[in-house]
Amino acid sequence: MVRRVPVVLPLGLIALATIVLFSRLQTAPATEPPAPETDRNAQRLVAETRPGSSAEGRWVPLFNGKDLSGWTPKIRYHAAGENFANTFRVEDGLLKVRYDGYDQFDETFGHLFYETPYSHYRLRVEYRFVGEQCEGGPGWALRNSGVMIHGERPEQMSKDQDFPVSIEVQLLGGDGNRNRTTSNLCTPGTNVVMDGELIRTHCISSSSKTYHGEQWVTAEIEVRGNQVIRHLLDGENVLEYNKPQYDPRDAHAKELAQQAGGLMLSGGTISLQSESHPCDFRKVEIMVLEDDPKHAGKAMDDKQQRERRNSYNTLTPEEAFVIIRKGTERPGTGELLHVKDPGTFVCRRCNAALYHSEDKFESHCGWPSFDDEIDGAVRRQTDADGRRVEILCKNCDGHLGHVFEGERFTEKNTRHCVNSLSMKFIPEGETLPPMIVVQDTANKD
Ligand SMILES: [Zn+2]
Repeated sequence: MVRRVPVVLPLGLIALATIVLFSRLQTAPATEPPAPETDRNAQRLVAETRPGSSAEGRWVPLFNGKDLSGWTPKIRYHAAGENFANTFRVEDGLLKVRYDGYDQFDETFGHLFYETPYSHYRLRVEYRFVGEQCEGGPGWALRNSGVMIHGERPEQMSKDQDFPVSIEVQLLGGDGNRNRTTSNLCTPGTNVVMDGELIRTHCISSSSKTYHGEQWVTAEIEVRGNQVIRHLLDGENVLEYNKPQYDPRDAHAKELAQQAGGLMLSGGTISLQSESHPCDFRKVEIMVLEDDPKHAGKAMDDKQQRERRNSYNTLTPEEAFVIIRKGTERPGTGELLHVKDPGTFVCRRCNAALYHSEDKFESHCGWPSFDDEIDGAVRRQTDADGRRVEILCKNCDGHLGHVFEGERFTEKNTRHCVNSLSMKFIPEGETLPPMIVVQDTANKD
């Protein structure tokens, strides 16, 4: 301000003007009543996304390397602000998530919330998994953590709530053997749109490589309000979607949507997870971005991703014989015949979730048998012979097998007799692959 005063003014006047200005600046805010918390959050959201705001184009640390100032823990079964068993702590300049004070994990999921909500920004975290999982942690939470964005505030969560309604960028470490992608998407109480389709699956895998061991990984998220969210690893786009929104099927999310006056999410809190496996965060940095639709892009403009998603999985000749030409694999030979582990059977051609393990039973017929399908996943049609009933994947029309009724194998009195070659098994705890929807063959019935 002072620099803009015309230079012709005498020095004394400038000094006087400066004093007056400063005293006004200092007293002005005190004369206005403090805005209610929600208003202030809304104002902050606007202020932080205004073009040319102070942090524009600069990486700003949210974690200071010394203590947890600016962060509030909310751990399940505890009140917001209570850092149960010192779960979140700062040591050696690292933000550590530890469970040495837990007897059993018992689904005591925790989140550490940053005080300021954001809307348009890039967020960068450096993380690593260390040591052994806490006793009693769920199998799927092995080397599992996450960054929650567009989240509710910790005070909005009930004491027993496990996850905040939010968009989760799921961070997973490899187990040393199998492939396991990271920077996946999970949607507690939310949904997103991918390639124009509303996605209601809880988790969607990214296309990332696997990071085994205790190496540091840098995950970046580009967040453009309600427009587009991109997950990046090593500078590469590994997942992208649009229109983050509340899921009205979730009662608490529905309530939040009513309070917000609509389903669409365009900003919210950022939080880091404690999900039973010890991990460290070395850096948590934000770059506030301009709220400018010109720069936002669309999920559709990533041509490669669209092309990849616009064709079904490649099939081997044996798979194509069954799935496309409605063949039948030889009885007793299928690789999924004896699978009894908890998990989901998905379509080998399009990844649609078809059957749950709990509906699988031993029929001794030589093919995997289920007495129920996942709601809406399977289509039935009468065979050319007019007697048997064929079952097909409702999403891609891939042949699955046949369904028989009245055999009295189980209480449901139904047997879906499915070729192993038509399905893939995803064990419980692993992220389901995204369902591939190809526009011109989808929803044929
Ligand atoms: Zn399918």
